[in-house]
Amino acid sequence: MSHARLRLRHDVRRAASAFARAASAFARPAVLGALSCACASVAPPELPTERSSTFGTVRGTSPERVAYVARVLDELAAQVPFVIPGCEPRAVDVRLVGEMSHANWSGATYTVRERRWMELPEGESNTRLSATMAHELVHYQLGPDWSTLPGIVEEGLCDHVAHTLVPEIAPLERAQYAVMLGTALDGSYRFNAERLVGRGRQSTFAPEIMTYTLSAQLDASAMPTFDDALRYDSRDLETLRAKGVRGVLDALGFLLVSRIGPEDLYTLCRRARMQGLAKVPPEWLYESAGLAAENRTGWRSAIDQLLGDAEKRALLRQEGLQFARTP
Ligand SMILES: [Zn+2]
Repeated sequence: MSHARLRLRHDVRRAASAFARAASAFARPAVLGALSCACASVAPPELPTERSSTFGTVRGTSPERVAYVARVLDELAAQVPFVIPGCEPRAVDVRLVGEMSHANWSGATYTVRERRWMELPEGESNTRLSATMAHELVHYQLGPDWSTLPGIVEEGLCDHVAHTLVPEIAPLERAQYAVMLGTALDGSYRFNAERLVGRGRQSTFAPEIMTYTLSAQLDASAMPTFDDALRYDSRDLETLRAKGVRGVLDALGFLLVSRIGPEDLYTLCRRARMQGLAKVPPEWLYESAGLAAENRTGWRSAIDQLLGDAEKRALLRQEGLQFARTP
C-alpha cells in the first residue's frame, strides 16, 4: 500500500455550503409532540387532490404524483412491521407540499392534539421521497411499548428502517455519520481508501491506498455530552440549532441502533417501561451496544465499522467536497 497522503479538508466557507446541502439532503427532523404547544393552531395544509390507499390517504397538487406516492405508501407501510417489532397500525395522512416549513427539512411528522400527519416535499426525487417516508413512518407507527426510547435513538431507529427499505441511500448516510462522530470524538476522522481520480459523480478510483482526513462542520462548544443527549426528548431535539450538533446526535442514535438491533432495543424499552423509568438509561444502551462510555478506542472502532468500501466510495464521490494537498 502506498503511503502517499492526501489531506482532505473543507475550506471553512465552502464547508458551510457543503454541509448545508448535506443537511438539506439528509436531515429529517421529526416534529413530534414538540409543536403541540407552540403551534397548536398549525393544521394540515389543504390540498386539491386526494387519493386513498390501503394504509391511508395522500394529498397533493399533481394527480399523477399523488397516485405514485399512494403506491409508495402502501409498499413501505406494509414492510415497517417486518423490520421492527411493536408497531401499531395507524391510517397515515400524507400531505405533499410545495415547500417544507424549514428549508433544511426533507420531511416531518406533525402531531397537534389528536391529529397526526406527515408532510413531504412533492417535488422530491423518488428515492429521497421513499427514504424520507420510510423514516417518518417509523415515528408514525411506533407503539406504546417504545415510549421509553430516547429521542435520538428513535431517530436512529427511523434511519435504520429507511436504510433497510431504501438501501440506495444507506452508504452515503452511514459515511456521513462516521465523519460526524469521528469529528465529535477527535476533531476529524481519518481512514484509508483507494485513490480518488477526478471529483464528484464522474470520479473513479485507482487501486493505491491513500489516507484521508475529513472533518464535519461542528460547533463543538455547543455539543452536549452523549449522556445528556440520550436523555433528551423529541422536544429538546427541535431546539438544537448549533452547527452540526443535531447531525452528530442523529449519528449517535444510528450507531447505537446499528449495534443493538431493533429486537434487543425493543426489549430494553419494555424493561424500562416495566420499571417505571421515563427513558432507557444511557448505561443500558452503551452496554447493549458493547460500548463502554469511557472507552475511546472502542468508540473509534465502532465508528470504523460503519465505513465499508461502499460507504468510502459514496463519501469521496460526494459533490462539494474540497481537497487540499498537505505539504
Ligand atoms: Zn425523524
